[in-house]
Parts: sequence; C-alpha cells; structure tokens
Amino acid sequence: MRRLRVNIPEREYDILIGAELLRSAGALMREYTPAGRAFVVTDSNVAPLYARILCESLRAADCEASLSIVPPGEGSKSEAVLSGLYAQMLEAHITRGDVIVALGGGVVGDLAGYAAATLLRGIPFIQIPTTLLAQADSSVGGKVAINHPRGKNLIGAFHQPKLVLTDTDTLKTLPPREFACGMAEVIKHGAIADAGLFALLHENEFALTEIVEKNCTIKRHIVEQDELDTGGRMVLNFGHTFGHAIEAQGGFSRYNHGEAVAIGMVAAAGLGEKLGVTEPGTTDQLREVLTLHGLPALPDEAPEWPLMLSDKKRDGDTIRLVLLKTIGEAVLYPVAVNKLLEWLP
Ligand code: ADP
Ligand code: ZN
Repeated sequence: MRRLRVNIPEREYDILIGAELLRSAGALMREYTPAGRAFVVTDSNVAPLYARILCESLRAADCEASLSIVPPGEGSKSEAVLSGLYAQMLEAHITRGDVIVALGGGVVGDLAGYAAATLLRGIPFIQIPTTLLAQADSSVGGKVAINHPRGKNLIGAFHQPKLVLTDTDTLKTLPPREFACGMAEVIKHGAIADAGLFALLHENEFALTEIVEKNCTIKRHIVEQDELDTGGRMVLNFGHTFGHAIEAQGGFSRYNHGEAVAIGMVAAAGLGEKLGVTEPGTTDQLREVLTLHGLPALPDEAPEWPLMLSDKKRDGDTIRLVLLKTIGEAVLYPVAVNKLLEWLP
C-alpha cells in the first residue's frame, strides 16, 4: 500500500493506494477518525459490487454503516437527488461526529462530497473512488459540486476529505469506455507535468497502482500550490476549454468527459503548434498515445468552437487557454475571444 500526504494547511489528509484495500477500509479508516457511524453513498452499479464488503469492514471496525444508493450517471448531481440525500441523512440524525463516505466514481464523489460540505455546515468526508477518473483525478483536491440546468458543476464547494482510500482492484469491473475516460485525464497529467509518465503511457506497460500514485502526486502538488483554483491549478484545464465545446455540441451525451477532453487536447496542441508556442510534433505524440488507449483524437463532425465560450473559465472577453510548451510542460496563454475564434478552423 502507498500512502501519499496532501499538504493543505489545517486540512492535510492522506491518500492510500493499493490492491484489496476495500476489505480493510474500516481498520484503515480508524487511523483517521473515531466516528461511530458512517453514511455511505454509492450508485446502483457500484452497490452490488462493493457496498457489502465496505459495510462489513466498517462494522468490523465498530463503525455503524448506513447505505444510500442513487441512480448512476451525471443526472444524479442534481438538486432533487441532493435533497433526497439530505432528507435521509437528517432522518438518520447524522451529526458532525459521523462521517460521510463516497463509494463510487466522480458523480458519487461530487454529490456526496457536496452534501458533506453543506449539511450541518460540514461533516467529515471520506472518498473511496472506484473509477480511474476519480482515483487519478477527481478525488484529489476537494472540489465537490452538483449541476445546475445552466451548466455542470455550477453549485459547489471546496471540502477536503479526511481520507482518500483507493483500491485499484475495483477498476477490474469498470467498463472499458469508462476506463478510457479516466485515461484521458491521466494522459493530460503526463502532458502538462510529467514527461516520464507520458512515456510510460506510450509504452503501455505499467502497473495501475503506479499510474494512480503518479497521478495523485502530480495533482497533489498542483492543488497544494493553489487550493482554491485562483492560479496554478488552471493548468489542469488543458484540453478542457476545447473539450467543453465538444461536450456541448454532443449534447453532453455523445462523448463522455474523457473523450471530449482527448479531442480538446489535440485541438489545443494543434493551435499551440500553429502559434509557435508548442514544440512541433507534440500533437502527433498526443494523438498516438490517445489512440493507443482507445480515445478519439478528432470529433465525428466539424467542431462548433464558439460553444467553448460558455465555459465557466472565461474571464470577460479573455479566455485563459492552457497550451503545452512541450510534453510535460504547460503554459497559460490568455487570448481575446475574437482572436481565438479567428485562429480556429
Ligand atoms: P466518473 O468517475 O467518470 O466521473 P461516474 O461516477 O458516473 O463517472 O462513473 C462512471 C460509470 O461507472 C457509472 O455508471 C458508475 O456506476 C460506474 N462505475 C463506477 N465504478 C465502477 C466500478 N468499479 N465497476 C463498475 N462500474 C463502475
Ligand atoms: Zn476533466
């Protein structure tokens, strides 16, 4: 088992990464919290696979466990589902001495995390991510949110977990398209911050625990510098501004997030090369690695780039693009919106 510490002043916490961790979740959790009760939130795909083993291990550690199962998918990051969760938690007389546990992918992490951030002004929170996206990316950094009809993640908070418990064995049951979706963020981390990781992905020979650990390390460093996303954390948006247009064009259903980010990264690298910011050949390298991991590099139809202007990272008439200098190094590149649209095909 690997133990990584995230050093955010007064809210530091550990990420534990390994195989077969779930069955020891209760005992591991005991090193971090005396809570006598855990309110576990999961979705109906994950529940039959992992809820029992988790609840048994919690009970074996003298932690009472209650379970709430939400429907799978982005639709559960809604006010309606959130308010149902609040009702169940209040019904169960949850207190700040208890703990909320998110067992599942990014959707469950965001939803349960937001409930934990807000109910009773904040309840301790533990993440047990079960998708590659959540293990390598979204469970690190404390961003939690639900969606609004006007856009994704518009209602949210920063709520750092007390502990992230990552059992890489849970990835064995993840559908291949979901696995690839997480791979897009893994490739992104290599592209913006770690040429060595990128090379590993190119060779396609690696242990999952190693990949997850490297990704958490990269994200941890970025988040430690900029917990509240006001500066350095921006580089994590590489591929996301362009990807947002791709997601929006597909009505947020044709492409999953990772696929849209994959296409977005290729577009950003292409633009960077055109502007002379990005080392020539970088786009080809990205394309190769993405294809190797089952991700698209180009959209099915011509992109409607102006859709990227609805991205919430826009700052008036300026968009702060993230471009690559080379594989392993990103730069912020602010451009005027009208200039950007001129440059794009
Ligand atoms: P993400 O983590 O990509 O943000 P979700 O939380 O929506 O996305 O998870 C993606 C899908 O994978 C959901 O349908 C979820 O129920 C399912 N899922 C999550 N973890 C597992 C797992 N370990 N095995 C099988 N299916 C899983
Ligand atoms: Zn993303």
